[in-house]
Amino acid sequence: MRTNRFRGVCAACSRTVEPEQGVITRPDGTTRVFCTPEEAAAHQPSAPAAADTDPYELSAAQVRITGTPAQCHAVWQALQLAPHLLTGQRSADRPRRDDDRVMLYGPVTIEARHLEAIERERQEAEQ
Ligand SMILES: [Zn+2]
Repeated sequence: MRTNRFRGVCAACSRTVEPEQGVITRPDGTTRVFCTPEEAAAHQPSAPAAADTDPYELSAAQVRITGTPAQCHAVWQALQLAPHLLTGQRSADRPRRDDDRVMLYGPVTIEARHLEAIERERQEAEQ
């Protein structure tokens, strides 16, 4: 992903993106501008209509992991194996501009029944 050289309109939220303030992607030959790498990662055609088929993806939080490729992959794998967590399609490793580390993004959701358990515990703690 590169920064945008020209002013554009974010393909995710339709806000105006000033030059060098956003990122561009060109995965399928079409250049798209986004405000943030997170938005761009969430709109990759390579991570397609998962949201249409998997209801958990709709409410998923977008998680960003920063580190060496090995660290990022290990953390993502830990998220995949964690009980009560559901992970979607993660992004490819994305190089950072500032240093040698990479970032990767992916959707993570907490299982509904585990969320209910968390909520119950919170309510009991308040009483
Ligand atoms: Zn945006």
